[in-house]
Amino acid sequence: MSSSFNFNGFSEIEKALSKEIEKGAKEQAIDFLKTNGFDVICPFCDKEFLARTVHETCPNCSKTIDIDFNVTQS
Ligand SMILES: [Zn+2]
Repeated sequence: MSSSFNFNGFSEIEKALSKEIEKGAKEQAIDFLKTNGFDVICPFCDKEFLARTVHETCPNCSKTIDIDFNVTQS
């Protein structure tokens, strides 16, 4: 089982990611994620950890989070 996880107002990195996503550069955003990592809060156990892929396993509860970029295009 996996869960969609949307970013809403996390960190500076999130803002940078959002910028890339707004430009329609989802792959660049994913590269950014791989390079820099991204602090996420596990929706299952509320622990923060560093995600580096869009399909990350929480080190605390071992559940898998699918990070879903919301790509907004005009
Ligand atoms: Zn967890």
